[in-house]
Amino acid sequence: MSTDALVALDVGGTSIRGELLRPARDAGEVVDLEVLERVLADTPRGGAEPDGDAILDEIERVCKALLDSATSHRVSVGAVGVAVPGVVDTAAGAVHLAGNLGWRDVPVAAELSARLGVPVRVHHDVACAGLAERTLGAGRGVRDLLAVFIGTGIAATLTVAGMPVTGGHHAGELGHVPVREPGLPCPCGQTGCLEVYASARAIGRAYAAATGRDDVTSRDVVAALGTDPAADAVWDDALDALAHALLGAITLLGTERIVLGGGLSLAGDALVAPLRERLLARARVAVVPDIVTAGLGPRAGVVGAALATLG
Ligand SMILES: [Zn+2]
Repeated sequence: MSTDALVALDVGGTSIRGELLRPARDAGEVVDLEVLERVLADTPRGGAEPDGDAILDEIERVCKALLDSATSHRVSVGAVGVAVPGVVDTAAGAVHLAGNLGWRDVPVAAELSARLGVPVRVHHDVACAGLAERTLGAGRGVRDLLAVFIGTGIAATLTVAGMPVTGGHHAGELGHVPVREPGLPCPCGQTGCLEVYASARAIGRAYAAATGRDDVTSRDVVAALGTDPAADAVWDDALDALAHALLGAITLLGTERIVLGGGLSLAGDALVAPLRERLLARARVAVVPDIVTAGLGPRAGVVGAALATLG
């Protein structure tokens, strides 16, 4: 019986993705993660505000289902890794703040390991997704990598000369790089932040304002490109802002490849091609890197939670 399997979870504000994984190693490095079992659950909502206790209970339920399935796969689970959005202290196993989960100063690792009887580690979701893309995804083998995740918010992971940049708690907060002056207010307290113009949420809001429809999202914008001038205008404005921030980042970092992940990256070439055009038109100092969409898609967080726990 292998004792090297593990359970990994990616806990988001709307869903919880869990997998039972068996790593394959080559010379000590993890080169693959075989999926033995998977569970996808809705994140419990407690009315207007997230119910932190109910979410912890649901995480326990998903973990137990995966742990129970280990026997039939003839593996035993050595650890559980959990990726969460928010301010995470991985060393302490605590989540200081996760607004989407209703958690403030929750000792998640200690609480879950007491319930499950297995060591638990907690990680930041974007750090996990970046690690996954760098190790097993579209950034594999790239020494100078910028992985940008665009969904409700925008965040990045930076790899310079093969090493992840982890300085301070804000490294990679691309969404809060100012791109407009004067700019719109951002919930972070600054104005003109990239996230206010180019996140999936911001794009949906801008299209709603332009069309007077309150039921539209960034997906509707992408679907209407080329047929609705309002959608084209919203998309152009978001891409201008994104190109502005990325030009700054690649000039500073000497980026060799940009990996675009998160929900907005599902736009594919409608996102990549015009972004590349803008960077080529503007860059005079930086060499415009390859731009590709994420290789692991919605699994990046869970794969990264596994890798971070194994690492
Ligand atoms: Zn901001």
